[in-house]
Amino acid sequence: VIGGIAARLGTPAYLVGGCVRDLLQNRPAPDLDLAIEGDVRALAESPPLQQPHAQCQLHPRFGTATLRYPDGFRLDFARCRIEHYPAPATLPEVRPGDIHSDLARRDFTINAMAVDLNPTTFGELLDPHGGRADLRQGLLRVLHAGSFLDDPTRILRGLRFAVRFQFRLEKGTRALLREALAQDILARLSGARLWRELQYLLELSDLPIALERLGAWRLWPLLRPEPADMESLLVRIRRGHQEIDWFRRHCPDETLFDAAVWLTILWRDIPWTEAEKRLHYWPVAGGHRILRDLRLLPDMPGALTRADRPSAAGRLWERLSLPGLLALCAEYPETDIMVESGHQHLRRQRWLSSPLNGKELQALGLTPGPRLGEVLERLRNARLDGEIKDKETARQWLIG
Ligand code: ATP
Repeated sequence: VIGGIAARLGTPAYLVGGCVRDLLQNRPAPDLDLAIEGDVRALAESPPLQQPHAQCQLHPRFGTATLRYPDGFRLDFARCRIEHYPAPATLPEVRPGDIHSDLARRDFTINAMAVDLNPTTFGELLDPHGGRADLRQGLLRVLHAGSFLDDPTRILRGLRFAVRFQFRLEKGTRALLREALAQDILARLSGARLWRELQYLLELSDLPIALERLGAWRLWPLLRPEPADMESLLVRIRRGHQEIDWFRRHCPDETLFDAAVWLTILWRDIPWTEAEKRLHYWPVAGGHRILRDLRLLPDMPGALTRADRPSAAGRLWERLSLPGLLALCAEYPETDIMVESGHQHLRRQRWLSSPLNGKELQALGLTPGPRLGEVLERLRNARLDGEIKDKETARQWLIG
């Protein structure tokens, strides 16, 4: 349908990028990317594509448009373009081009193929860089020698594809990666671009494999000053996944920033200043909480072991952020008493408040002020410790 409309409008259309790769691998392609030689707006807004309730978003500045259908399906349109990088690791200058220049600007050969949608040539594969052969052999190959220098995010994109498809770097590309790393090219990326790619990586379900690859590609310095001890890290990651699953099952209405759990686990044994240096540069949501947790964590196990009452343990757990708490639990076997205490805190104790509220305490004769706050706190502790259960026992406890 799209090809027919595009032909009538004189704007040749092609299926491009990840969806072509996925279709050739017989993997489902959740969204379709279309490259258009011509007016994106005319095609995206053409009546046959505007089914009822389809939402069209235009971005004229970027020559792109997105059509979202009610069932979640998405069509992304982009004007074919030529990219020129004025300096390494900067954003490219862009001007309109044809499908061949559009394929030439892409990251890896497996992502640089197109399927022609024009009715007369419908279904023809355009594969000027040998992507299909690389796909068959499981190879990641850049399109030209300056590719990683132009855009170092491609290094981390490559790592993601290597993990997801279990592909490896083609020999020449491996040499280019080494050269780019020798020039410390990733240090030239903005913190925001680097963190975006790292976050994708940390959120892969195959995180252990991603970290193994990270080591094999000599990229540990991005995350840590020294490579991690993989054996113990893998145990903590497996436990981290269990803790995150546990949390999602038991607290389904709460949001959790998984990447913060992983960073805490990865940074638990490095100097605090190394974590701080990275978070100073990367815009990580809640980064200051990760740093605070990293300061608290070394003393937590001892303090929790010494806590003689549930209220004392609760006060300690409350000092940690949610990701920090789960990261600490991930250091212990599932059945450990420490994990039980953390889970108990998350499921029940953190929600328990004083059985009498401020107004009720004032009715009992207390005047507003710090003293009232103290009494509220003590009542809450007594409730956590099981000494009082309801308003009545709380009143008696107060009188006593
Ligand atoms: P995914 O399945 O993860 O979405 P994808 O290949 O579709 O994989 P996108 O980030 O959606 O990934 O990018 C779409 C296409 O745009 C890629 O297939 C690639 O051709 C091109 N592309 C994306 N980022 C870059 C980049 N940094 N450099 C060159 N080409 C890129």
